[in-house]
Amino acid sequence: NRVPLLAGNWKMNLDHLQAIAFVQKLAWTLKDASHDVESAEVAVFPPFTDLRSVQTLIAADKLPIAFGAQDVSMHDSGAYTGEISGAFLSQLDCTYVIIGHSERRTLHGEDDSVVAAKTAAAVKHGLVPVICVGETAEDLEKHGPSAVPVAQLRVALDGLGAAADIVVAYEPVWAIGSGQAATPDQAEQVAAALRSVIRELLGEDAAARTRILYGGSVKSSNIAGFMREPNVDGALVGGASLDVNEFASIVRFQK
Ligand code: 13P
Repeated sequence: NRVPLLAGNWKMNLDHLQAIAFVQKLAWTLKDASHDVESAEVAVFPPFTDLRSVQTLIAADKLPIAFGAQDVSMHDSGAYTGEISGAFLSQLDCTYVIIGHSERRTLHGEDDSVVAAKTAAAVKHGLVPVICVGETAEDLEKHGPSAVPVAQLRVALDGLGAAADIVVAYEPVWAIGSGQAATPDQAEQVAAALRSVIRELLGEDAAARTRILYGGSVKSSNIAGFMREPNVDGALVGGASLDVNEFASIVRFQK
């Protein structure tokens, strides 16, 4: 009963003019294919500077596409040069915000406590955090598949109420941008472990309704395998989400 979520993380790609053209073309492509939004939710995560344009286009044409930001400040307002408040994002009608993507963790030094603070800030401002967790190749060798993502999620969920609306994305660092995706079986194993953490910390109801996505070299040719797994409820797609036809094919996955 969880509606699958197929999400495109654009990373630092597509300016606001390209974003408008992209979202328009995506909407037409999905409409041409008679995509049923009840069967799968579609979301895009453009750079901050695109959000206002994307919001305006989606609202004006009532497009069945959700959107969110790629990061948020842990603070509400004040002397934080370069940061973006969750309040600003909810004013722009963002539904989601990605938190703790591995590129933020490694390139911008975001540790689990920063991820937890940003998750709390997102929830406080009425945004749904897409909490990213995942192990490096070295972690995998040393600790096995689930230990690191499970530990990361435990910290991120600390202090959240049972009613919090969240999405979790399992993105093995070794699979991101490498062309070497995890197997559906590997993704399922970790997703099941993550769901147990949600059950333990937020309760049965949250565990049953929270969507857990897989991310890392997802494309139209491998999406179906992931979507057949009982604990995988969608995908967070990087590179393949920048090609309209490829992303539309992922959205229209057949199990
Ligand atoms: P790729 O799909 O390019 O491997 O990126 C995955 C990702 O990081 C999505 O957040």
